[in-house]
Amino acid sequence: MTAFNDIDARELSLSEVMRKYPDVSPFVIIKADVQRRGVRFSEAALAHVDLAVHQVEYRGFSRETSGAIPVSLMMRDGTSILTGFTLENSGRPPYLVDVVEDRIVLTDQGTVVEEVDYWEKPDYYSKETSNHIPMWQIALARPQRIDLYPFQYCEFWNTPGHGCKYCSVAATYKKTGKPKYVDLTDIAETLAEALKQPGRYMSLFLTGGSILSGKELLDDEVDLYIKVLREAGKNFKSAKFPSQLIGTAYTKEQLLRLYENTGLSSYTADIEVLNKEKFDWICPGKAAKIGYEEWKDRLYQAVDIFGFGNVNTGIVGGVEMARPKGFTSEDEALDMTLTEAEELAKHGVFTVQCVWTVAEGSVFFNQKTPSLEYYVRLSCGLDRLCRKYHINTDMDNYRRCGNHPDTDLSRI
Ligand code: SF4
Repeated sequence: MTAFNDIDARELSLSEVMRKYPDVSPFVIIKADVQRRGVRFSEAALAHVDLAVHQVEYRGFSRETSGAIPVSLMMRDGTSILTGFTLENSGRPPYLVDVVEDRIVLTDQGTVVEEVDYWEKPDYYSKETSNHIPMWQIALARPQRIDLYPFQYCEFWNTPGHGCKYCSVAATYKKTGKPKYVDLTDIAETLAEALKQPGRYMSLFLTGGSILSGKELLDDEVDLYIKVLREAGKNFKSAKFPSQLIGTAYTKEQLLRLYENTGLSSYTADIEVLNKEKFDWICPGKAAKIGYEEWKDRLYQAVDIFGFGNVNTGIVGGVEMARPKGFTSEDEALDMTLTEAEELAKHGVFTVQCVWTVAEGSVFFNQKTPSLEYYVRLSCGLDRLCRKYHINTDMDNYRRCGNHPDTDLSRI
């Protein structure tokens, strides 16, 4: 614990950051810090988990059925904190979810920070498909979104050294022994069942690792998403339905094929790092197969097809400062990132950040993420750009996604 305090002594604490940024929602600041530092659950907090009510994950990943922990947290204003498996990950003391006076609370080294609740389990989680697969293994749920991951591996990892350096997809895939592809019948049955719950969902979300094969690079990935989206579309009367795909950056022809053949209404291709040099180092597979400038061009073409406000890109906030080749100054990292984000915004593409969690199994495991203040400044900077260029962030807002401190700010 002393070592943690030594590290943190060089940074502003949570309460100091809150005092320094009084105009930023304290819920958003807490969220960024919990994601940055990770979270643990006390035995008392775990005793408050009701398996009939709460959405849980299992410590050894999703094929296990014991050792349940709450999948994520919700704060009093409806802000989600996606905690996943990041029990402790940053070289700093993780937060502890505990119980005080019968309330579930987030605590920071013994001090109560905020009251939290566990996400509620959707109705379909207790059902099985006709193949006897639990539906919660086919589609995950956010509080108001259904999430599908039709391809659970990423082919960038097929070439040694091509996986993104912060990414643990390949390690997770090997650990869980999941099939690479999720069965389409299981997806169809799960979606139909999930949508029976009135008022629960406002959108459908798809993502997965990159599939590089096909006549043209990524053709097979596009074909897979077309198949899944057409199946999903059977549940809707309108041609387009509220949906988001995070895919690889597709060519114009591939984007048109996706748009014209499905009900998909918004598109994301995560560039991950907003600086060419850092992108080349951190995302070598994406750099080799598509390239930084081409990635941006493909996003701009997507705006022409999906429309203004329906295209964005994600970054792994803070990974631009990874060692040894990342920025060494937070000011410089912020300046470079926001300058690039502004160029994207001018073209109608807004940038959202996921807080870099130093995942076990990633090349960057054991690195240290930037300060909390950095995440607050980055979130405010990205939010300012959306307001300046009048980009509506609803396609990826706190209700649909809930994983981006910056778009959490867009509702205030
Ligand atoms: S972050 Fe990179 S390596 Fe990981 S799944 Fe995405 S594209 Fe593949």
